[in-house]
Amino acid sequence: MAKATREDVLTALGRVIDPESGKSVVDAQMVQGLVVKDGNVGFALEVSGARGPQAEPLRKAAADSVAALPGVLSVTAVLTAHQQGPQTSTRPQTQQGHSHNHGAHNHGAHNHTSHNRGAKPHQPSPSAQGIPGVAAIIAVASGKGGVGKSTVAVNLALGLAKLGLKTGLLDADIYGPSVPRLLHITEKPQSDDGKILKPIERHGIKTMSIGFLVGEDTPMIWRGPMVQSALTQMMNDVAWAPLDVLVLDMPPGTGDAQLTIAQRVPLKGAIIVSTPQDIALIDARKGLAMFRKTHVPILGIVENMSVFVCPDCGSEHHIFGHGGARETAAELDAPFLGEIPLVRAIRETSDAGTPIVVSAPDSREAEAFLALAREVAQKIAAPTRAAPKIILE
Ligand code: ADP
Repeated sequence: MAKATREDVLTALGRVIDPESGKSVVDAQMVQGLVVKDGNVGFALEVSGARGPQAEPLRKAAADSVAALPGVLSVTAVLTAHQQGPQTSTRPQTQQGHSHNHGAHNHGAHNHTSHNRGAKPHQPSPSAQGIPGVAAIIAVASGKGGVGKSTVAVNLALGLAKLGLKTGLLDADIYGPSVPRLLHITEKPQSDDGKILKPIERHGIKTMSIGFLVGEDTPMIWRGPMVQSALTQMMNDVAWAPLDVLVLDMPPGTGDAQLTIAQRVPLKGAIIVSTPQDIALIDARKGLAMFRKTHVPILGIVENMSVFVCPDCGSEHHIFGHGGARETAAELDAPFLGEIPLVRAIRETSDAGTPIVVSAPDSREAEAFLALAREVAQKIAAPTRAAPKIILE
């Protein structure tokens, strides 16, 4: 069967009338970020913040209208709310749901209503708002993919929990979530009231990932506003509290999606993961620059895949060079947080969903992650800005 085109989708949406304006959702310019790819359709329906979740029937009508088209395999339709004036919420109220015309995935948990908790009208900017009951949110970022950012984020979160901190791990990589694999989570989060999702608990940490909610075969064609609303929901509509620290596993890179997160999420600080190669360090510099631009404190740089320890003879090899991250950190006036060795056990335990900090807690590798966790715990306990030094003469 021929796949539906963008024009087909717009025609179908043109038949959906917004009761508020009396116009079609297309004419009312409510359809945002439309993506049509190989029969998979994604779009956001933008409504005013005041309408919020009441627009759900309209979202559903729009999704159903597209799903009924021949040549459409899946529809992902998300409600986003634009902000109006200073008196309304500084956080967009969002609601999202999935409609799949083949009926194979109907993840009820995803159709929950957004709540606008913790919005205070006098906050200077959205980035000043936290998640109630969560003391600190820290981002684990990288300038590019494949440097071990998610591996570091998971083991760091488990290390922080070992130190006695109540810890959460939020997988903010909407396009390529890793936490389901790294923690071997296949179940879906539950909700008692249909509004707030319960995070999934593993090894003493609470965790949430878009990968728990959408099937692996659901196309990741969300863009711009949809990514933002999914992340907002994973922060605000999940029962995180009480937490001492929430570790955010950022999407790799320093593009718009990352910049938006750095601007919108009230981060206590950011950690940049890099390998020792020059090229990765150039990317790490971009990461540092991004957080500095958004005034997020840099907790430091971690060098991952630092030294290779031969499993047979125990000798050390610096496959990607060595010490580059430490030098870059010094050059850029950022703290250096430590080195994680390149060892097969880290990859194997990651792939098996049993991170090394819990599966081999006494190993040298686990100790490297624990040392990192101790550094980070100390930094987030300290005030963000150092008090001025008083010099007595
Ligand atoms: P990213 O999140 O930066 O894309 P991942 O955490 O998914 O990277 O890691 C990429 C691959 O490298 C994974 O297969 C992971 O198991 C492996 N890996 C990460 N860190 C190490 C390490 N220190 N030693 C060995 N393998 C590692």
